[in-house]
Amino acid sequence: MRVVIVGASGRMGLAITRASLEFPEVMIVGAIDRADSKLLGQDIGLAAGIAAIGTRVSSDLAAALADADVMIDFSSAAITRQNLELCQAAGVAALIGTTGLDADFESLAAGAALHIPVLIAANTSLGVTLLAELVRLAAAALPPDFDIEIVEAHHRHKQDAPSGTALALGRAAARGRELLSDVGGVRSGGGARVSNEIGYAVLRGGDVVGDHTVAFLGAGERVSLSHQATDRAIFARGALRAARFLCGKPAGRYKMGEVIGLKTIS
Ligand code: NAD
Repeated sequence: MRVVIVGASGRMGLAITRASLEFPEVMIVGAIDRADSKLLGQDIGLAAGIAAIGTRVSSDLAAALADADVMIDFSSAAITRQNLELCQAAGVAALIGTTGLDADFESLAAGAALHIPVLIAANTSLGVTLLAELVRLAAAALPPDFDIEIVEAHHRHKQDAPSGTALALGRAAARGRELLSDVGGVRSGGGARVSNEIGYAVLRGGDVVGDHTVAFLGAGERVSLSHQATDRAIFARGALRAARFLCGKPAGRYKMGEVIGLKTIS
């Protein structure tokens, strides 16, 4: 499986390179980052702290895709649109883990999925994929007077807020409760809670890899469903599993739930 990593010099790009040791079928044939990346020209294996793999960090995604089966994108929302268009032109499957995507990205993804396999996952961990399904089930089972609030914490460098994972958990809850949308946002200012909204609370600091709790707050009782990530390797392994799942699939949209074999997919 010939993989191109976009955002190769970043925290996730390097974690995916390290995790590739656990996937003997994976060949990293492209390691793409910004033209001003400090790692440009360096062997990505050495940069990630493993043995040299013979692939150097470059900024030419189109050239790398000419010789690839799947792109794994953990870079920046500013570039993801262009990356997906290049995948479509090259006929290469696309796994997009980058978060903070524009609202209109969905229509671009739907168009690309007519030509190539596409999977967009704000969280590629096994645990969060399962959590989203548990949240959907809890939201469907509990009566509407249980208010739904989502709390998340991440490291101080994270760009987007609330996290893509928090928003995906909100969508899972909204689907479970059959809300038309996951209306709500980060709380600020006063005023009483609006019924049927989903509220988000955000913490940023330190080196937190990613904590998420979905709370169902009823009269006299509370149910909380939580996930704590302590090691980026979980996202990296999940990304490589998802890439392996996409290889050879027909064009279309796929979900992380399918990658881990969940019977019902949220
Ligand atoms: P990071 O800042 O450490 O790495 C991002 C990399 O992308 C950097 O090396 C940067 O130079 C590169 N980049 C930025 N703009 C680029 C461009 N125009 N062309 C090429 N490369 C470019 O960030 P990170 O912690 O590795 O996270 C990357 C993304 O992945 C973020 O959106 C983050 O929220 C997301 N993420 C997703 C998951 C998941 O499970 N899906 C898990 C962790 C992080």
